[in-house]
Amino acid sequence: MIIDTHTHLYDEDFREDFDSVVTRAKEAGVYKCIMPGIDSSSYGDMCEVEKRLAGFAYSAIGLHPTSVKGDWEEELDFVKREFAGRRFCAVGEIGLDGYWSREFMTEQKRVFYEQIVMAASADCPIIVHLREATEDLYEVLEQLRRDGIRPRGVFHAFSGSYETYERINKYGDFMVGIGGVVTYKKATVAGVVERLPLERMVLETDSPWLSPVPYRGKRNEPSYLKEIVAKIAQLKDCSIEKVEEITTNNALTLFNIQ
Ligand SMILES: [Zn+2]
Repeated sequence: MIIDTHTHLYDEDFREDFDSVVTRAKEAGVYKCIMPGIDSSSYGDMCEVEKRLAGFAYSAIGLHPTSVKGDWEEELDFVKREFAGRRFCAVGEIGLDGYWSREFMTEQKRVFYEQIVMAASADCPIIVHLREATEDLYEVLEQLRRDGIRPRGVFHAFSGSYETYERINKYGDFMVGIGGVVTYKKATVAGVVERLPLERMVLETDSPWLSPVPYRGKRNEPSYLKEIVAKIAQLKDCSIEKVEEITTNNALTLFNIQ
């Protein structure tokens, strides 16, 4: 029994064979999924999937850093309004992305900060997307520290070093989301997995993106999580069952789902 803590099941890539994707996931032992939000344009589709798969798929709400553009204020208001209206298992995915563009980096930091404050006000975990913006991240974390806020959550698709993880974790309480990249040759995250206790890891596919080997380059889906489990077990030199049991417990606790 495993949990995919990061899948965009509501993405149009799954529309055609949605039921088979879900069936294959369940056959592979995936019994729950967390769906991170992106922005208001995909929100309706996400809630639709959550309703259809009640008890299996759970929505998170957040404004993704690559969706922080000229209309960021309206988008942030949308997130705050929805968050106030119902319970979500997490705020995400939120964060900083300097890879696609740095045009709105100032706004990205503001939006990230405000969403963390919002999550902390309800003791809700955050799902963090970080890509080529580590120094910007420290600025936000320093501001949070000054304001007395200690966030908790998960760094999804973490690509930094173990030392970076340790430095980040001083500012809060963070797990690392391990996905398909761990199966790639020369992946930095493989070194992180070797040193990080299983108690700090959750599993994720980030489907439909980032397929693990041997599906690399194809559409990813939650059932491929078992390739990631196998790779972690190999790196930790432990049984598959142990990886499954510990990461599932971590996810249930982190997202407060049962
Ligand atoms: Zn994602």
